[in-house]
Amino acid sequence: MRLRKEPDLNPMIVIGAGQSGLQVAEALRSESWEGPIVMIGDEAHAPYHRPPLSKAYLLGEASEAQLTIRGPEALARKNIELMSGAHVAAIDRVAKTVTLGDGRSLAYTGLAIATGSRPRPLPVPGADLPGVFPLRTLDDCRAISIALESAHNVVVIGGGFIGLEFAAVARKKGKNVVVLEAADRLMARVVAPVISDFYRDLHTAHGASIVLGAKVTELHGENGKVALVHTASGVAFPADLVIAGIGILPNTELAAAAGLEVEGGIVVDACSRTADPAIVASGDCTAVRLADSGLRRLESVQNAIEQGKAAAAALMGKEKPFTAKPWFWSDQYDVKLQMVGLSAGHDQVVIRGSVAEGKFSAFYFKAGKLIGIDSANRPQDHMAGRKLLDKDVWPTPQQAADEHVNLADLLK
Ligand SMILES: Cc1cc2nc3c(=O)[nH]c(=O)nc-3n(C[C@H](O)[C@H](O)[C@H](O)COP(=O)(O)OP(=O)(O)OC[C@H]3O[C@@H](n4cnc5c(N)ncnc54)[C@H](O)[C@@H]3O)c2cc1C
Repeated sequence: MRLRKEPDLNPMIVIGAGQSGLQVAEALRSESWEGPIVMIGDEAHAPYHRPPLSKAYLLGEASEAQLTIRGPEALARKNIELMSGAHVAAIDRVAKTVTLGDGRSLAYTGLAIATGSRPRPLPVPGADLPGVFPLRTLDDCRAISIALESAHNVVVIGGGFIGLEFAAVARKKGKNVVVLEAADRLMARVVAPVISDFYRDLHTAHGASIVLGAKVTELHGENGKVALVHTASGVAFPADLVIAGIGILPNTELAAAAGLEVEGGIVVDACSRTADPAIVASGDCTAVRLADSGLRRLESVQNAIEQGKAAAAALMGKEKPFTAKPWFWSDQYDVKLQMVGLSAGHDQVVIRGSVAEGKFSAFYFKAGKLIGIDSANRPQDHMAGRKLLDKDVWPTPQQAADEHVNLADLLK
């Protein structure tokens, strides 16, 4: 059965009703697309903010209503049709249709794939025991919230952003918290050792136990739910609630099955274009081919929004590449970490401010050039750094370390 028959004006279809899908749909309206827009999302909810899930929501400081980015009425005002609870099962690029899980098909004028990502499954026996949760969706967090009330011993597997944010929430709620991280430091993929060490000390000072080099081998159940987390070193940690936060997998299968290029993400250019002129992709599911440095995949709100804007423009035949430097944030206890640029490959780190006082920034240099800044409770450094990096202007390492140098002055 075909839902739309107008051969002259098929809709722009957006697959995925998350941060990026919503941005594509709304930006299509700003780009003057006056035809129909259909946004298809397999979650039961209108688009919502994910970042507060592991922060204010689980702490009970943000309601579900406050998570909503755009409710059904607001979408209707923009004439954006939201099909929630609907899964796209296939894309036919020749017929320019998508097929839903229930067999219905829908023709498109242009297609945006914004399918996001899913938690990487924990590859050990017992990972499917009751009491073991991923942390990605509102539904995950509704279940976690209930389990957290009665939990005593919380084990977080993975010392990345989401695991650590959850650990901070669980400590604030008075739970015994153990974080098991396989690497030899926290958030090792994205921050320098000075930041990893600061966060290990921060969590330890708040009473969480951080175990590094801990390789989880098995989860053991008792009375039908998780009870112990075993590690390769032979230690077993008691647990009545386990959060598995070991990274994500981009949802690329739909694109790959349609013959689009996938390499760690749906391959797009800076304008979010795939090789098919009628199809764009944006957000967590993509990998951007950069002129100078291969493929880059980001998992952030900024990326979801900016790639979404570029994608909508591209569907309208315009070139609006996303070129700003990446930025990100994480809230743990009373410390806001703000990151700009990408620090991978740095050969020098300079500290501005005081690590001991918990207010500092790490400036990362590569061959004397600033490539990234991580700021802990130093928003002024972060804001100045964003402008500096976007304008390709940078302080010397000496200037970066010297608090008497006003970074904003370098922009003049
Ligand atoms: C707990 C948590 C905390 C975070 N904190 C931060 C933070 O502090 N700062 C930051 O910058 N970023 C943070 N992020 C990351 C940020 O939320 C994501 O990068 C962003 O949501 C990505 O948006 P997206 O639209 O690409 O993907 P998603 O938000 O994942 O949306 C994709 C949607 O598409 C749906 N979908 C997938 N396949 C199909 C299909 N075939 N048919 C229909 N629908 C489909 C999915 O179910 C999903 O609803 C956090 C993420 C999480 C989970």
